[in-house]
Formats: sequence, C-alpha cells, structure tokens
Amino acid sequence: MASEADAYLIEAVQAGDQDAWREVIDRYEGRLLSFARRMLAQRSEAEDIVQETFLGLLRSLPKYDQRRSLETYLFAILRNKLSDHFRRQKAGRRQSLDSLEPADAGGAAVSTETPSRYMAGQEIVAAQRDALVDCLRKYVEQCRAQRRFQELMIVEMLMVLGMRNKEVAADLGLSETAVAGVKYRVLERWKQLTQAAAARYDWQEADLAASSSVAKVWREEGISCLKRSTLGRYLLGALDEEWAAYVEFHAEVAGCDRCLANLDDLRSEDEDATAREELRRRCFASSVGFLSRRPSQG
Ligand SMILES: [Zn+2]
Repeated sequence: MASEADAYLIEAVQAGDQDAWREVIDRYEGRLLSFARRMLAQRSEAEDIVQETFLGLLRSLPKYDQRRSLETYLFAILRNKLSDHFRRQKAGRRQSLDSLEPADAGGAAVSTETPSRYMAGQEIVAAQRDALVDCLRKYVEQCRAQRRFQELMIVEMLMVLGMRNKEVAADLGLSETAVAGVKYRVLERWKQLTQAAAARYDWQEADLAASSSVAKVWREEGISCLKRSTLGRYLLGALDEEWAAYVEFHAEVAGCDRCLANLDDLRSEDEDATAREELRRRCFASSVGFLSRRPSQG
C-alpha cells in the first residue's frame, strides 16, 4: 500500500510539481543506489541505473497502482533495469536472471515483467495476484501484531526460501511434526483470508513449493519487508529481542536484498555526502524536463 506521504507526493509529481519530484529522488535514491551497488562492481554503473530508474518511474507514473508502495514499485523498476543491464552487458554469454537473487533463493526467480507489462497482463491473472498479495500482507501484519515471529520465520523458510520441513525443524530446534502443523494451519489461514476476495485465489498443493507463485509474489512485493524506521531502530539496537531476531533473520538469513540495501543505505547515510548530492542532482536534472513536458492527466 502506498503511504499517505507517498500518495501525496505522487499526486503532486503527476501535477508537474518539481519540488515533489526532488523529494521523491531524495527519499529513495540512497536505498536504490545501495541495492544497485550490491549487484554491480562499478559505482558509476550503479549510479546510471538509479538515474534510469527514476526516469522509468516518471515514464510509467500514469500506470502506477497505489495499492503498491512506492518503494516496491521503484525496486521493481530497478530490478528490471538491472536485468536489462546484465542482458546487454553479457550478451552472448548465457546470463541467468537468478544472479539477481541471493544464491539460496530456492529457485524463486526475479520477475522479468516490467510493472507496465504486468499492468497490461490478463485481468483475471492480475486480480488473482492481487487477492494473493492482500492475503499475504494481512497475514504478515497479523503475525507481527500478535508477535508470532517464529511462525513467520517458519513460513519464510518453507514458502519463500523453499527449505524442507526437516531443515526448518533442525534450524529452529523444533520437531518436524510441529513444523508440519504450522504449515498446515498457515495454509488454512491463507485460504480463509482469500475467501472474501472478489477473485479468489486458487490454492493448490503446488503453492507450497518454493518455486510457486507465493514465493515469487512474496519477493516481488516485499511482503515481509521491514519499514525503514524499523530497520533504523534495529541498527540503533532499539528493538526488543524478538523483533531484532526477526529482522536479523529476514535480512541476513533469508537474505532479503531489498532490506539489506536499506540497511546499507542507513549505515552509510553520513558518508559520501558530496557524491550522493551529485547523484541526486543528476537524477533530477535528467528527468525534470520530462516532468514539465508531461501533458496534464485525463
Ligand atoms: Zn525485506
């Protein structure tokens, strides 16, 4: 879901407001650069990709769906720019898109769809996907509100990382039966949560496998990704023990590249001030002409 602040910014940008556009760049440049730098050896390459990402956002803004957070949308564009980059760079050599994911992602591939290609996709498929995303988001919110962190870890291990019951049980010091029980109850819960949706999600046994749509959607939409404020408090050591253990699991063990990028960015906020300012200026300068030339909505 786009936050109120994001929704306001996007509206202003669509109306051609340059200050709002500058603020979007200032707000997201750091985490996007950190993400790109994790993938690319050269800082200059990473900066170019970030610049293209902002331009891409501006170009695809009419198709922006406010049910997605602006951060999720920007990371989707960035991932596409990166996979385009690797395709161009390594043309002739077979380049697996899996290289964009941590090695142990259990085969959950990054989507090659651009947000706009996704939006143009079949409506029924899109509606089903929406139902699944809603369900998973609600589920994660409930787990966190009720501090069911261990259950959430089990779910990420099984459904997102594609680990086996046995492996999860060994990692967490539980019995296999306990893990299987959690898996069963969670799937029942998900079925309930999608029952109210207009386009019901078609649950199949296959959805429990790591290569399933659940794992794909989970990563693409950052279903269990942490708020930047939570990551900041984690770095300050201001989270309680259970929360901190969960954040550590999600970022470091599950290897969420998006949260790792945010952590990198938060850690380096005071470094490279000049280079960062220069990149923000570049992103703005290269895109602002496009902003003011945009025809008004309608
Ligand atoms: Zn994350």
